[in-house]
Amino acid sequence: MEDCAVQLLTKMLEIYSPSRKEETLSLFLAEEMAKMGFKVKRDRVGNVIGETGRGKPVILLCGHMDTVTGHIPVQKRGNTLYGRGAVDAKAPLAAMIVAASALSAEGNSAKIIVAGVVDEEGKSRGIKNLLKEGITADYAIFGEPSGVEKITIGYKGNLRLKITCKTTTGHSAANMLYENAVEKAFEIWKEIQKIHFPSEKLESSFYSLTSTITKIAGGKGNSTIPSSCQITIDMRIPPQLTTLQVLEEVYRRVKQYEMANPKNSVKVHVVDSVEPFEADSNSPLVKALSIAIREVRHKTAVLTRKTGTGDMNIFGRTVKIPVVTYGPGDPTLSHTENECIEIQEFLDGVEVYKKAVTRLITLHGEKCNGN
Ligand SMILES: [Zn+2]
Repeated sequence: MEDCAVQLLTKMLEIYSPSRKEETLSLFLAEEMAKMGFKVKRDRVGNVIGETGRGKPVILLCGHMDTVTGHIPVQKRGNTLYGRGAVDAKAPLAAMIVAASALSAEGNSAKIIVAGVVDEEGKSRGIKNLLKEGITADYAIFGEPSGVEKITIGYKGNLRLKITCKTTTGHSAANMLYENAVEKAFEIWKEIQKIHFPSEKLESSFYSLTSTITKIAGGKGNSTIPSSCQITIDMRIPPQLTTLQVLEEVYRRVKQYEMANPKNSVKVHVVDSVEPFEADSNSPLVKALSIAIREVRHKTAVLTRKTGTGDMNIFGRTVKIPVVTYGPGDPTLSHTENECIEIQEFLDGVEVYKKAVTRLITLHGEKCNGN
């Protein structure tokens, strides 16, 4: 099994698949999973969905096929495998496929759905389509690199804004007569940066709101006062807040600013928003994974909350079932030029998925029998 697992991951890495260019990988996985005994289909956005088993509970293992852009030559150096997506998130997806196939060969009693979805690094079209088509399960694990001994139970939300500030222009030699849109936009940013709520814990990077200005563009000629400036702001939202609460506060501050600066016009455009999500840390799923990690690594599992966002945010908010994110790979290597995974970590990930699913089936049975 180990050779097959490494072979599958290597082939997946060799197929370059940045967001919106997942089709070759999707077709490849559909074929491979069919050979491994899954009942396979592809949906309208290109997600590949393989099913094995038919009993209860239904367990969804969901990973993403897309990566960020940037080729990294696929190579094995020592016991480490390099390639774009080695960590985020082809190793977790490959491990899920191998684990589910091995469980099915052993004749497990549950129905396992493995979904390789598109566009997680983009606008999450993949997970949104799975939800639209009404996927149902009793438990779901999202395959993202948490490190083989860690379980991710929370992600912050995200609110991305473009704010355009307009003023009237004039000659820069007479700058006392005009307002400078670049300066004004920066003043607005300074106001937005101050936004905080009493429910935040400012000492925690997870339970606090953080705001970053990621882009600023404005101005035309050398001797012209800039009359238009656009800033892009990335706000990361803790689970005790919603994107709407934060957005309403942004609108309130902008309105206040406009009243104090009647010569400026300010427009706020929401580019994207994802709600924060924190999973139940006492669920049977967390229990099953923790036991599996102890069995495979002889260590106590660590629960982590991350400041990024993932498909679990969208799924967990919509479908009210136990859900976590777990997968092999060092998350600090995600999106870097040095993406690689230790082969042992990957293989241990396969074992943890297998043992966790097996344990989960037992725990589910006990719960249903009222024990
Ligand atoms: Zn990812």
